[in-house]
Amino acid sequence: MAAPQRDYARLFDLTGRKAVVTGGSRGIGKALAEALAAQGADVAIVVRSTLGLAEELVAGFNAGGGDSFAIQADVSDPADVARLAAEVESRWGRCDILVNNAGIVLPGPAEDFPLDAWRQTMSVNLDGVFLVSQALGRLMIRQKKGSIINIGSMSGRIVNWPFRHAAYNVSKAGLHMLTKCLATEWAEHGIRVNALAPGYIMTELTEEVLREHPDVVENHWAKGAVMNRIGSVDELAGSVVYLASDAASFTTGEIHTVDGGLTLR
Ligand code: NDP
Repeated sequence: MAAPQRDYARLFDLTGRKAVVTGGSRGIGKALAEALAAQGADVAIVVRSTLGLAEELVAGFNAGGGDSFAIQADVSDPADVARLAAEVESRWGRCDILVNNAGIVLPGPAEDFPLDAWRQTMSVNLDGVFLVSQALGRLMIRQKKGSIINIGSMSGRIVNWPFRHAAYNVSKAGLHMLTKCLATEWAEHGIRVNALAPGYIMTELTEEVLREHPDVVENHWAKGAVMNRIGSVDELAGSVVYLASDAASFTTGEIHTVDGGLTLR
């Protein structure tokens, strides 16, 4: 007699799940929001200044029905985050998936790096993740289930010399540890907390560096990875769907690396 077939595709089905993606208007966040929506989730896209882009995106998600929405909120502002959580609760009554993707890079040599720029980096990349996780984590604790995915970086693991952005590296290393702390504290509430640590991915953020250092892809970024190239936003989509879904039901506190082997050597 043939072994009973398990429906593995259903493990990745997110139909009816409610997902919040910060910084989902462009770049990596946009690709991750699209991937979650394609798997059936309703998605709230949170942006600071690009609300028009986010609104266009959710209009596409809702074209065949659904309840995705766009909202302006600065993740580093506690009042904005409280408003975001209130909107999610009144609209959906729950939050199943949170992707903390919003992040900034402010480069500069350590000896001249302004304290304001240091604090700004920490306030978006660390305070923002803490605030949004806390606000939506309370909803997840109440429903006894949830998956949080923090977008970390290989910069949280290695110093990506010759670039000088110590504040960014420190913020991402802190984000990896915050991931492990929240995973530990909230496991008893049925909440899984993981990080996705990409290598170099082509987005507006990286294009800005390229304008100043046009040779960098060839001579540094691609050569650093054992796969000898940089990545595309679409190459992160499967990982976020996996971590958000029941396929990852026994995975928590993990720093999931997608970097073409950049941090191997
Ligand atoms: P982009 O600069 O292309 O996009 C950043 C997004 O974050 C935008 O949607 C932006 O919206 C939003 N955002 C920024 N600050 C805030 C804020 N205070 N509140 C709410 N939203 C905000 O970045 P990427 O797509 O390249 O990066 C996304 C994440 O991935 C970041 O956390 C980054 O550190 C990480 N990462 C990126 C890598 C890469 O190679 N690109 C590599 C490793 C990690 P708005 O413009 O409206 O403010």
